[in-house]
Parts: sequence; structure tokens; C-alpha cells
Amino acid sequence: MLAERMTGLSGSQTSGMRNKAKQLRERGINVINFAAGELDLPTSPTIKLAVREAVDADRTQYTDTLGIRPLRERLAERVSRAAGVAYSAEEVGVTAGAKQALYNAAMVLFDPGCEVIIPAPYWVTFPVQVALAGATPVFLPTEHNHFQIDLAELAGRITSRTRGIILNTPHNPTGVVYDRPTLEGIAALAMKHDFTVIFDECYEQLVYPPYEHHNIVKLVPEMKNRTVLVNSFSKTYCMTGWRAGFLSAPKQVIKAVGNLQGHVTSNPNNLAQYGALVALDPVNDPFVSNVRQVLRTRRECALKLVQQIPQVRCGVPQGAFYLFPDVSQLLGRSHKGKLVADVDALAELLLEEAHVAVVAGSAFGSDRHVRISYAVATKDVEEGLIRIRQLVEGLE
Ligand code: PMP
Repeated sequence: MLAERMTGLSGSQTSGMRNKAKQLRERGINVINFAAGELDLPTSPTIKLAVREAVDADRTQYTDTLGIRPLRERLAERVSRAAGVAYSAEEVGVTAGAKQALYNAAMVLFDPGCEVIIPAPYWVTFPVQVALAGATPVFLPTEHNHFQIDLAELAGRITSRTRGIILNTPHNPTGVVYDRPTLEGIAALAMKHDFTVIFDECYEQLVYPPYEHHNIVKLVPEMKNRTVLVNSFSKTYCMTGWRAGFLSAPKQVIKAVGNLQGHVTSNPNNLAQYGALVALDPVNDPFVSNVRQVLRTRRECALKLVQQIPQVRCGVPQGAFYLFPDVSQLLGRSHKGKLVADVDALAELLLEEAHVAVVAGSAFGSDRHVRISYAVATKDVEEGLIRIRQLVEGLE
């Protein structure tokens, strides 16, 4: 019954783990959920109020395919500031989250037969979307290089078929932030070999000093005509379920995205767009500062505790809200006679025995790591990591 394109396409492992954790909770089990890629905080009150007012004002019909005009204009101003180059409203489109922005970009840019480079580990959805467009993901391993991109290795993966690269900084799941020379080097390769950069900066505001987020267009303005900037309201403004994201790109790309989106979703959620409009207002700056502060505290707590787990090595996240510890030394050992053969088995064991949900690195192209989101309450960060330590200490 199913189309061929569904062969091998399984559901998102991150969503799968999030759902499993929720089901256990519904059965009354106290599960610590480190699997969700979202903050536990409520959306800012000013954004909620704006949406209530939008409901009362009956903003309940279809909007323009690429979003309401005032939002596109505000986003164009904001992107122009961030990129240091002028963007017009016609160069910005609103989508149902960054996920849809990325899907749209893949569909309008990549043909069957072309290659798209994806640094690995990667956010789970990137290769799937490239494959749905019929193109071939080409992975660039980064694990041996502290998850940073080695420019010579990247150059070695470029062929006459290379049409694009998907970058994500700050990075999910590794927490790295790409530095200026790396991004400048990638830009030079993109211009030399004539390919597009999809630049996912969903976590741009969630960076821990001294690290800084760099926008590739800001660093190299000539990149504007070959870059698709992708961004989201989900993380910064705690609006994951609202589904609001956006992309900025050359006019012909945005026009093509509009044509596609018009047949797929008609428009992003009308009400969420009124929330997004207020999210961008400076009145929300203190909200965002608080999100950063909360995450800093949780990161410190998580790092201190993960370092106490024997035989687990973990780098320091530079941005976003994930730990990505190397658990390879735990594999091949057993728990109550049951072998922990791989990272999937470890994630299952942690959920079943310790009631802690993490995502196995296999979802992100790594067979040595698990991803732990510390965007949960500090007491849960503590409790969850202590439970993991206890389980690991009991491995035979
Ligand atoms: N890109 C990355 C790197 C992400 O981590 C996520 C969310 N987990 C997204 C895109 C999608 O975000 P949104 O909620 O805006 O669709």
C-alpha cells in the first residue's frame, strides 16, 4: 500500500523517545525526560496575551501563504540587523516551525542525483529531508575533531554533484558553536564550488560566553545570494508547540517556497504569527535573558554531575541545551545479565530501569554517544543524572 519513498523512513527517534517517556508518566511512573528538545518553561505572558487578543479579534482565517505582512517586515528588519546586509520582506517567509522551513528549502533547492553535505553527528531530520527531496546526503564526520568541521576534509567531500551543505550552529546534538574561521572557510568553498548553504541558527540566542554565534552572511556578505537562513521561535521564546519559524533567502527561493507551501499547508498558524510578532518586541528581551540564565544554571549542574559518572566522557556545550556524552566504554557490559550491546540498548535500559529518557546517538549518526537535554527543571537534571550514575555503577 505504501509508496516507495517510505521505505526505510522511520519516525523521528527524538519524538519517539519523548512519547515513550510521556506514556510511562501517564502510567504514574516518575520519568525524568531528558529526551525532549524543548524548555519546560511557559511561553512569555506578553506573547500569550497577544494571541488571546488575536482570538478575540477573530484572526482565525487563512493568512498570506508566507505569513502576515507586519511579521515579514519585522523579521526582515531583524534579519537585516543580524546579517549586516539589507533583507526585504520578500526575502523572508514564515513557516510552521524551522522544521518546515528546512523541508521547504530542501524541496525547492535539491534535485534527485545531487549531493548535500551534512556534518555528522547531525540533527535527526536533516538527512531525511534531503532524501525526501530525492538527493543524497553525504556525511562529513566531525567526532574526531571535537565535532568541529575540518575544512580540508570538507573540501575532500565536494564533487561536481554537490549542491549544498546544511550547517547548524549552535549545534544539536553536540552543543558546538562554529567559529569565525570555520564559517569563512566554508563560505569560500561554497563560492568556489557554487553550492548553497542552509544555515540553521535555531539556537542562536542560546550561547554560553565566551562563545559567540556568527551568522555566515554577516561574516561574508557575498554569501547572501547563496544562503538560506533558517530560524525559529520555538527555543528562544518557549513556543515549540505553536509552530512558528522562518527562513530568509534570495527572492526567487522565497517565491518558490511560497509556491510549495501554498500547496502543503496554505499558511503558518494565523494566531501563532501574532504571538511571534510580539515575541520580537524588545518587551521580551528580559524573558530571553531569563531563559539564558536558567539554562546556564542547568548546564553547570548537568556538567558537574555527568563528570561523576564513571567511564563517561563529556565535552562542554558551547550553545543550545544538550550534553552529548561519549558512552562507548559502557557498551559490551551487562545489567543483571542483560548485555548492553549498543547505544540503543543503553537508552532502552536507562528508560526501563532508571526511568530516565535520553536519545541514543544512533538517531544523530553516532554509535558512541547519547543525547541528554538539560532544558528540564534543575532538580530533575540532578535526579536524572544521579539515576544514570547509579545504573552505570551497577554495570557488570
Ligand atoms: N533545527 C534544529 C537544529 C532543531 O534542534 C530543531 C528542533 N529540535 C529544529 C530545527 C526544528 O524546530 P521547530 O520547532 O522550529 O520546527
